[in-house]
Amino acid sequence: MRNGALLIISAPSGAGKTTICRKLLARRKDLRYSISCTTRAPRPGEKDGKSYFFLGREEFKRRIARGDFLEWAIVHDEYYGTPKRFVDGETKTGRHVVMAIDVQGAMSIRRRSPGAILVFVLPPSLGALKSRLARRGGQGADEVAKRLANARGELAAAKNYDYVVVNDDLEEAVSQISCILTAESLKTSRLDPSHLVPALV
Ligand code: 5GP
Repeated sequence: MRNGALLIISAPSGAGKTTICRKLLARRKDLRYSISCTTRAPRPGEKDGKSYFFLGREEFKRRIARGDFLEWAIVHDEYYGTPKRFVDGETKTGRHVVMAIDVQGAMSIRRRSPGAILVFVLPPSLGALKSRLARRGGQGADEVAKRLANARGELAAAKNYDYVVVNDDLEEAVSQISCILTAESLKTSRLDPSHLVPALV
């Protein structure tokens, strides 16, 4: 009766969006995660095809030219993009798709798919963000500084989102996002009107 919804989660690096997505997926059988492609190097523990599809720059550019991405952006000097085919296939069969993408990507999805649900996750404070970034492996001090500087710009973009969730208590943040998805997915505007009458008889 309804197409699945696109749930876009943005947050500064280190605000916990990967963990939030993992927990959301464990709770909801109607939700799939869109695995992005990136040219950045894998961090310790990250597996190709699980966290990301890790690609070389030339391959990434070939896929852009082929129109394989729903959106793509350069973030922290690396390419990131959302593969189109997976998202289209899942939403057509009524499953929701969550994607953890940056502010540029979120805005470009909004232009293409006005029904997308945009959620911005805030860290409890900049201090908390800094210590989470410093704790995370696989990146030097320069990388941490770049991500922190970028975070300030991203925080200013939160006002363009539909919802803002503070990740102070992880379980609470996950519950709030799950509630947002449920309410949004039941909106009358998502219903194909031709299905409404048969559903009532
Ligand atoms: P990280 O390198 O920390 O995994 O991600 C860096 C930034 O790139 C994050 O803000 C993340 O949400 C964003 N990102 C990850 N995948 C995509 C994508 O497919 N498209 C866009 N536009 N941003 C992405």
